[in-house]
Amino acid sequence: MAFEGLSEKLQGVFKNLKGKGSLTEADINDAMREVKLALLEADVNFKVVKEFVSSVKEKALGEEVMKSLTPAQQVIKIVDRELTELMGGAGSKLTYSPRGFTVLLMVGLQGTGKTTTCGKLANYLKNNGKKPMLCACDIYRPAAIDQLEVVGKAVDTPVFTMRDCREPEKIALAAMKEAELKGYNVLIVDTAGRLQIDEALMDELVTIKKAVKPHEILLVVDALTGQDAVNAAEGFNEKLGIDGIIMTKMDGDSRGGAALSAKKVTGKPIKFVGMGEKFDALEPFHPDRMASRILG
Ligand code: GDP
Repeated sequence: MAFEGLSEKLQGVFKNLKGKGSLTEADINDAMREVKLALLEADVNFKVVKEFVSSVKEKALGEEVMKSLTPAQQVIKIVDRELTELMGGAGSKLTYSPRGFTVLLMVGLQGTGKTTTCGKLANYLKNNGKKPMLCACDIYRPAAIDQLEVVGKAVDTPVFTMRDCREPEKIALAAMKEAELKGYNVLIVDTAGRLQIDEALMDELVTIKKAVKPHEILLVVDALTGQDAVNAAEGFNEKLGIDGIIMTKMDGDSRGGAALSAKKVTGKPIKFVGMGEKFDALEPFHPDRMASRILG
């Protein structure tokens, strides 16, 4: 489960604070030093940690005293608020086209869980009253097309393919036409992944983006890769521009550093988290609930 270690450490820090009646500046400084260590151990980006701790400290020292709360409760409340803010505040939903037909472009490195997530998203959309269609745009690996077809079957969603076409943007455009014609209202476009960000991959994605003008470009990253996931998000955002992040494998990530750093580093929100291999294991990301979960 995500944030296990961090959660335990922070709860320890706060238990300590609660044991004291009033808090001195030194108490807060000590506590913040421990919070800082806990965040670093959770693999949160170093700059993000520094800013976070100094912001909490400033607020904890400056906060006007609320009579209803003990000093320790106040510090916890500030940390809760700042953690929520760090992960994106109110949270970010998918945006749908006002015209009624939405295109979601799914991008990401190989192995992050992109194809599985396409299926999870189709399942989620169906449960939310949408009619999704999937589209296979990986022109390099026929196995990737096969995989998407298996996924489509599992979530009872049609998959558009053009196995002989070498131009992914043409495949996506044809899929849009077909989907609209058949009365589907969301097209989820699965694209090719690579082991690392390279120019050819980015050029191809930019070409698809220009052709289909997606309403959302969603980057799939693997929480288990920690700061590499954040770096990938930065790279994709710089070269392509993304609208949101889907962070997979949160079920196996006991640290949580990527989830805590991604929004601050890239400016782009995490919209969903993957919580398992099954197709119903996709959850909208709620920073406030996640912060509460961390603080226990
Ligand atoms: P792609 O290369 O990015 O398309 O990755 P795949 O969709 O093939 O997924 C790679 C592996 O990650 C598969 O074994 C998936 O079952 C697994 N996976 C994807 N999302 C999750 C998740 O949220 N949690 C867990 N535990 N496994 C996941």
